[in-house]
Order: sequence, then structure tokens, then C-alpha cells
Amino acid sequence: MVLIAEIEKAEKTHVNGCLKDGQRQLLSSKLGLWSRIPSGIKDDWEKKILCFLDLFSFVETSDNFPSDDIKLLVAAEAALLVAKRSFEDYRFLRSIYIWEKQIPRQPGAHGMASMREVHLSWKYLEKTIGNADDGKNLVLHEFAHVIDFSDDGKAQSIPVPKTSKDFKFWENLIAEMHKRIVNAHSAGTKFPVRSYAGLQCDKGLTPEIFSCGTSAFFENGQSLQKECPDFYNALSNFYGMNPAAWSKVI
Ligand SMILES: [Zn+2]
Repeated sequence: MVLIAEIEKAEKTHVNGCLKDGQRQLLSSKLGLWSRIPSGIKDDWEKKILCFLDLFSFVETSDNFPSDDIKLLVAAEAALLVAKRSFEDYRFLRSIYIWEKQIPRQPGAHGMASMREVHLSWKYLEKTIGNADDGKNLVLHEFAHVIDFSDDGKAQSIPVPKTSKDFKFWENLIAEMHKRIVNAHSAGTKFPVRSYAGLQCDKGLTPEIFSCGTSAFFENGQSLQKECPDFYNALSNFYGMNPAAWSKVI
């Protein structure tokens, strides 16, 4: 849990902050998304990365692990989601666990998130963090769950509380997207949001649409905009960014 006063203090500390050259070099060499982010976002993003590292704790999961470089890579992607938003999205987040290999007792899971914790497998992340084109970004996915939880304690792909004027809009949008995702993938049609987004829990909740959609939004913005303009626009308004206009460096 992060207090509003702590967020304000970190933001004040880094109000004119920017990353060091070595940090930028690391992000530019390892992070697939780095080169794509426009300068108007990068300035805010760098400040948010520095604040993120001040505000949230990374648990030492084995001796001297994760390293500062690994923490920076994860902090950078997590901070991108809130580059144009508030850290209040992460106010319930307590700890980030990056496991060198597998997440304990979770065979096959590369990442997990609740309102308070994020768990990530570095073995998987190391192989995938440089790829920003498959729409399956693990860090963005898990931290989008944290955001989805934070408004009302539920990850149901509606990132605003029931009291919000936008709740009904999101509820309808997600129901429609669920149909489209399930239909497209069962028909074998290419679709910008991956099939896992169609997962439905016992209570009928669909927790994966917002997270899978967030990864698709940042990594495959153009095709998401083309295929699902309403969903794309909702995410664009929510995150305050327009990735479809970012040029990809091939
Ligand atoms: Zn998920």
C-alpha cells in the first residue's frame, strides 16, 4: 500500500528528474518498446520510472536477485502504463517478486498478479522483453491486472468503479469484446487480442480482456485500432496515449 503523501513526495523529488545515460542504454538495448515511445511521453515516463523505483519494493527472491538492471526493466514497463496517469492506480501494490526461474508452486505460469502483489518469471521475461510486436507483453499484462483490481477490488476488465459514469460503457464494451474474441478465435480468424482473453471465470467475470487488450494496445496498436476501434479508443482515453501513431523501428 502506497500513501498519497508518499506518491506526492516521490513526484516532487523527481519533478525535473531523468534517467542516467547508463539506464537509458540498458532500456534501449533490452526493451522492445523503448525506441517506439515518442519524446512527449518519454519525459513523463522517465520521471515515472524513477518514482516507481522509489515507491515500490522488489523482494529479494534469491541471493542478490533481482539485480538493479532487472528491477529497472520491470519498473520501466510498469511505469509506462501510468506515464500519463496517476500512481494511485498502483496504490494497493505492496511487493513485486521476480523469480529467477519459475514462480514457486505455479507450474507453467510466467506471471501472476493480485491487487497487492505481482510475480514474474525472469527466465521467461528475459527471452521476451525485447519483443514488442507479439502483443503478449508479460509486464504490461500483469500490471494491467493491478490497475483493474485497484478501482473496486475486482479484475473483471472494467477499470472504473461501479459509481463511475463510464461503468456501463465499459461493461457493454467488454461484453461485446468477449463475444468477438471467442468468435474470432474459435473460427480460426486472426485477431489482435489473443485467445486467452476469452477466459471466463465461474462468476462469469472476464479478467483477461483488459490485460491482454493492454498488451495488444501498446504492441499492436495499429491492428487493434483497425479491428476494434471502440476498444482501442477506450484504452487510448484511459491510458492517455495513442500507440497506433507510434512508428515501429524495424
Ligand atoms: Zn492475466
